[in-house]
Order: sequence, then C-alpha cells, then structure tokens
Amino acid sequence: MPRQQPDRNRINRHKERGHYDTETIHAILDQAKICHVGFNMDGQPFVIPMAFARQGNSLLLHGAPNSRLLGQLASGFPVCVTITHLDGLVLARSTFHHSMNFRSVVAFGTARPVNDLEEKHAALIALTEHLTPGRTTLARAATDQEVMATAVVRFEIEEASAKVRRGPPLDSPKDRQLDVWAGVIPIHSVEGEPIPAPDLKPELCTQEPVKPA
Ligand SMILES: Cc1cc2nc3c(=O)[nH]c(=O)nc-3n(C[C@H](O)[C@H](O)[C@H](O)COP(=O)(O)OP(=O)(O)OC[C@H]3O[C@@H](n4cnc5c(N)ncnc54)[C@H](O)[C@@H]3O)c2cc1C
Repeated sequence: MPRQQPDRNRINRHKERGHYDTETIHAILDQAKICHVGFNMDGQPFVIPMAFARQGNSLLLHGAPNSRLLGQLASGFPVCVTITHLDGLVLARSTFHHSMNFRSVVAFGTARPVNDLEEKHAALIALTEHLTPGRTTLARAATDQEVMATAVVRFEIEEASAKVRRGPPLDSPKDRQLDVWAGVIPIHSVEGEPIPAPDLKPELCTQEPVKPA
C-alpha cells in the first residue's frame, strides 16, 4: 500500500496540501485517463504520457512490444508516475498570489512485464474499461494474437503522495483592499457529443457508444 517515506515522497512546500492515504491517492488515480511516466536512461530523464488503469495498488500500462519505453519499464528500472487534474485558475488581486486548484499524485515504484496470456487479456480489458466504462461488452474482444502483439507492464506503487489545492486566492490583507476582481475560474474536463466514424453503418449512428451501467 502507498506509505509515506521521508526521502522520496514527503511534500515540503504547503505540507497541509499533502495526503498519503490510499483512499485519496486512489481516487485521484481513478479519475484520470492519462499519466506521465518518468524514468532515467543512461543519465537522460524521459517523461512520457501514457494511458493507464489502476488495479489494486498497481498501474497497468501497455504499448507496442518494440517500444523503447515498454522495454525499459519491463527491465525493472525505478519509475516515477505522475497524475494531474487541473481544477481551476486562481486569480488573486496581486499577480504574485495567482495560483491553480489541482489534485495530483506522484508515485514511485518499479514495473514488471505481464507475460501470462490470461493476465494480459484481463489487463487490456481493465485499460479499455477504465478509459470507456462498458465498452468491452460492445466491442469485439481482442484475439490471442492481438494480445500477444501488445506489451503490458504492471507498475507496482511502492510509495506515493497526493497534493490537493482547493479554494480561493490567498491575497495579503493589504491587497484585499484593491479594486481588482479575484476568485477562481473553474476548469472541467468533459466528454463532448460522440462523433460517429465516417464509415459507420448509418443505422448505427444513433447507437450508444458505451453500454450504460
Ligand atoms: C497543476 C500544478 C501546477 C503547479 N505549478 C507549480 C509551479 O508553477 N511552481 C511550483 O513551484 N510548484 C508548482 N506546483 C506544485 C509542485 O508540484 C510541487 O508540489 C512544488 O514544487 C513543491 O514541491 P516540494 O518542494 O514540496 O516537493 P519536492 O521536494 O519537489 O518533492 C518531494 C516529494 O513531494 C511529493 N510531491 C511534490 N509535489 C507534489 C505534487 N504536486 N503532487 C503529489 N506529490 C508531490 C513527491 O513525492 C516528491 O517526490 C504545481 C502543481 C500542480 C499540480
């Protein structure tokens, strides 16, 4: 389970915004569709955006078997995964106190390849379901060949931290007297109206893209 360790995952600035409990960390992970995977190779840091799904205390990642990233991850390198939700722009009376409302997670651990065919099938279903819940009951299931042509790694979270900022700007008492608008501009990530594929059979254009739960 994620736990606080003094060296790697202790938040120093705004400690009051830090959280180390599994519930908070998992909630932030589960509300995200992408993560950024950071690792060091021959002294060069890389940070790569990827889709993911959480399964218990691990994150499932997938890609092409010949991708350098998947190969590196599977070789047991130390990995740092970050997830960020931008919830609002915080506009203060002073430019200095402008800020952002956010929920973020930084997780440390190592990845191992998932080679067992059944486990890979389950991992890829979990990934699809995380991105589009209900989709796997409608779409054709992946064949063994397709699954074998996909690399899957399981990133086990060893330590993690969450940081959350909510609320209004924190202007100084003197600046609160200024005649300048202050507050929060909320930012939401929302799904738009589905756009049917150009070659979709016309009679399917009104079909629900995912099966309601
Ligand atoms: C959307 C967004 C925008 C931000 N913009 C800025 C900015 O412009 N300038 C700036 O200085 N800071 C910014 N931050 C905050 C930044 O992420 C760090 O929290 C901050 O730099 C202070 O880090 P630190 O010195 O406490 O920790 P560090 O010493 O840098 O890190 C120590 C440990 O704290 C944990 N940690 C640090 N930050 C986070 C986090 N955000 N979420 C979860 N765990 C964390 C990690 O486990 C890390 O290993 C932003 C955060 C978000 C989410």
